[in-house]
Amino acid sequence: MRPRIRGGRTTVLAALLSLALAAPIAAAQAQGAPSARPAADSTASAELPHQYEVTGLATRAERTALAATGVSIDEVHARAVVITATRAQATAIRQLGHALRKLPDPPGFATPSPHKPRVKDFPTGYTKYHTYAEATKEIDALVAKYPAILSKQVIGTSHEGRNLLALKLSKNVTKDEQEPEVLFTAHQHAREHLTVEMSLYLLNEFTSKYGTDPRITKMLDSREIWIIPDLNPDGGEYDIASGAFRSWRKNRQPNAGSSSVGTDLNRNWDFKWGCCGGSSSSPSSETYRGKSPASAPEVQVISKFVHGRNIGGKQQIKAAIDFHTYSELVLWPFGFTDDDTGEGMTQDDHDAFATIGKNMAATNGYTPEQSSDLYITDGSIDDWLWGDQRIFAYTFEMYPSSFGSGGFYPKDSVIPKETARNREAVLQLLELADCPYRAIGKEGQYCKGS
Ligand SMILES: [Zn+2]
Repeated sequence: MRPRIRGGRTTVLAALLSLALAAPIAAAQAQGAPSARPAADSTASAELPHQYEVTGLATRAERTALAATGVSIDEVHARAVVITATRAQATAIRQLGHALRKLPDPPGFATPSPHKPRVKDFPTGYTKYHTYAEATKEIDALVAKYPAILSKQVIGTSHEGRNLLALKLSKNVTKDEQEPEVLFTAHQHAREHLTVEMSLYLLNEFTSKYGTDPRITKMLDSREIWIIPDLNPDGGEYDIASGAFRSWRKNRQPNAGSSSVGTDLNRNWDFKWGCCGGSSSSPSSETYRGKSPASAPEVQVISKFVHGRNIGGKQQIKAAIDFHTYSELVLWPFGFTDDDTGEGMTQDDHDAFATIGKNMAATNGYTPEQSSDLYITDGSIDDWLWGDQRIFAYTFEMYPSSFGSGGFYPKDSVIPKETARNREAVLQLLELADCPYRAIGKEGQYCKGS
């Protein structure tokens, strides 16, 4: 299918946020609790990336070629994109003949001192975003308040030793019942803090409205809902630790032989890993795929968890949403190929994906499209969840639509509206999870007796 890309290019580029100049250096890795060994700020050879607007690209082939230089593409318009790149990458892209404009540095911009104590909260205007500690505290309070329908498991730890959590929501939550399961994941990319708020919104909504809201009650009675609220806590904490946002994307895993830190978790999943020019082999890249499939501990932990939901040869998880920011998109697999159908994706699969995706997008006003309509990606979670596990997996790129509206760092005042905005889409996916093919009227063919 053809890309559906917004034609209106945003030109208002309101300066927004702090972006630390000081380069990060890999702190000696904490073996114990992360709080014991905060990441150090230091001047180092590694460089923090910036956002740039690149004009003159109109096709997905051109965008894929641009992505192949190792930058991340953050925003796609009819004849322009916004990327995140290092200065060296920006120079390389200029040499390819593209017109590049660095987006303005945010106000309040300051170089954090290497000796400055680690900041414990988001900057002013963002304090309603939850730090890892605040999110953990809120989750624990919800589990204590709603033990009959919400349970918490530590399913593993991040590179720096932070707990990775899976929250289960269901009636009779302590029992593994024969119910369709749905997975919601968030925060693969460090700077996409709004996605953690999305997870917390769902946890609050499902617990507080169980027993009063008929749709939520029915879903908790008939589904097992899994929420992994924070896939990349190390990156998220690093992004705010200097007191100014660092526009950090990857995890915080060092790379042998390189001063560059981090793997792009959403290029590290073990399906068509590195197959198709949709990720980078260079550790300095924003889209570094890691040294091998699932080499990132966070990807390993979640992969193992999903494999663990395969019981008796049958994957219990039927549908999933992985939350990202930004651009306001609903995306479905595959990302590794331009083809709509092919091996691992029948016409019916594709039609069900597209129908459900478009229906969800009609509720939140996002733009629905196949992931590769933007540009090629490989090793993404959605490609793995579908390609390897046959889970109807979507990516939501949340608010805002553009850099000019806040990019990766919208103020905290948008949190209530922009999380609730996805309520209906989430409910629709949950309601279809027993048989996603019902969306195309083929439940008789695919879901008999289930
Ligand atoms: Zn993302």
